[in-house]
Amino acid sequence: MTSLKDLVIIGGGISGLSAAFHAERNNLDFVLLEASNRFGGAVFTSSMDNGYLCERGPGSLVIGNCLSEIINRVQLKPLKASPKAKHKLVFSDCTLHQITRPFYIFLSNFLSTETKLSFFKDFFSFRQTDKQSSLNSNKDDKDESVKSFFESRFNEEFVNKLIWPVLSGIYAGNPAQLSIRTVWPKIYELDKKYQSISRGMLFSLLKKGKKENREIYSFESGLNELINGIVQYLPSERLKLNSQITLVEECSSLEKGYKYFLHSNSGEKILAKRVIIATPSYVAASLMPLRLSELQKITYSPLVTVNCWMNKSLMRESNQKLVEESFGFLSSKNEDIKTLGVIFNSSLFPKRAPDECFSFTIFLGGSNFPELISLSDNQIKDICIEDINKAFNLTGKLEHKDLKVKLISRWKKAVPQLSLGHHNLIQSTLENLPNDIAIAGNYIKGVSIENAAQSGLDAIKKLIP
Ligand SMILES: Cc1cc2nc3c(=O)[nH]c(=O)nc-3n(C[C@H](O)[C@H](O)[C@H](O)COP(=O)(O)OP(=O)(O)OC[C@H]3O[C@@H](n4cnc5c(N)ncnc54)[C@H](O)[C@@H]3O)c2cc1C
Repeated sequence: MTSLKDLVIIGGGISGLSAAFHAERNNLDFVLLEASNRFGGAVFTSSMDNGYLCERGPGSLVIGNCLSEIINRVQLKPLKASPKAKHKLVFSDCTLHQITRPFYIFLSNFLSTETKLSFFKDFFSFRQTDKQSSLNSNKDDKDESVKSFFESRFNEEFVNKLIWPVLSGIYAGNPAQLSIRTVWPKIYELDKKYQSISRGMLFSLLKKGKKENREIYSFESGLNELINGIVQYLPSERLKLNSQITLVEECSSLEKGYKYFLHSNSGEKILAKRVIIATPSYVAASLMPLRLSELQKITYSPLVTVNCWMNKSLMRESNQKLVEESFGFLSSKNEDIKTLGVIFNSSLFPKRAPDECFSFTIFLGGSNFPELISLSDNQIKDICIEDINKAFNLTGKLEHKDLKVKLISRWKKAVPQLSLGHHNLIQSTLENLPNDIAIAGNYIKGVSIENAAQSGLDAIKKLIP
């Protein structure tokens, strides 16, 4: 059977759902096809038998313009993270350090004097006159790794103790491979303009008058509420589960205006005038190999998320306070733990764990420990117990029976790595697409849920300029 569609959106993660939301707002005739038996992709909340919930993928989000429009229109009530949980921690030199404000960093012994002085060196530098620096070229195709960018402005310790953990937290990636202009385009631009990161950031703060809204949100019943809200907003006949597209063929001799022939796993054939591919990049590459094969070059880091609980009484009193007042911790480079980071869910949002317990999500793997994805549940639990003992200095007090592991999720291809050359790869891919084909996804503008949703909106804007 062959059906005719004006617009087909392939993929029902937040990128595809955002595209569908805006298609509906613009009265387009569309259908969204999702390969699996649920919408949401990486956004995946599971309710547990005791009534509490686990986030297998993202646990919170930052709301920018794109999500804000969706949330208002769909009439959801975002839940702001507890203001009490304000501290961000880094595990470094076998200790948890607060890095919430530059002030803390300067007063503590977290960084050496040499590194603290490098802030001043950067503040008073004018790199454009420095002939040795290769960074000040105005050539737009210049790309540099995050590691080399920050090392040349500060030093290796700055990268290992601050940049490494932050990139582990966002990309589960390696600063030596990630591209500065794609990962942190604002910092890249500020540095180019002011020839100093610190000066650029200070001037941009003063100009704006206040900080950007970086508040953290979820919803009462977890992030799936966002997905369900969009799904319910859209007419049900526009959404199809269990519909995996295997190829998008471009044919000139098809029925008038219907240029694309979509093959699906069910054998259903669809003729479409316009297509948005909102799948991971490696799937997009296989769907249209002639147009999108370059996307195959984008690699993904694997992640294991472990949703677990422990009784509060097992923590030292000082650590209880630290957990209650913190978002979570990230690990510096070269620490003797395998954990990339831990989010303290019960400190951030209510109803994430029984009152007497702390609930954590532990993140393992990433591009630095990819082998962990193939360990058994028991081996993963052993690592979690060892690492939590070390991070909270519990000297082995936390035993197997004490850590209640509720869910272990393995994401083989969790986060796209926006590596060197990524900017040009995306630009040339976008430029080579015809007007009636668009791509959306977290590999285009950045991996946050907000950026992924924005890519869906951009795809619709391209199709209806
Ligand atoms: C463990 C983890 C933690 C994260 N934490 C955060 C966080 O705290 N905050 C944050 O903002 N972001 C976080 N992210 C990132 C964010 O969740 C993702 O970048 C975003 O959800 C990706 O959305 P997407 O729609 O681009 O891709 P996906 O969610 O991957 O959706 C793609 C969809 O396409 C479908 N599909 C694939 N192939 C086909 C096909 N052939 N035909 C039809 N459908 C197909 C898939 O089944 C899937 O549903 C996290 C990600 C992970 C994995």
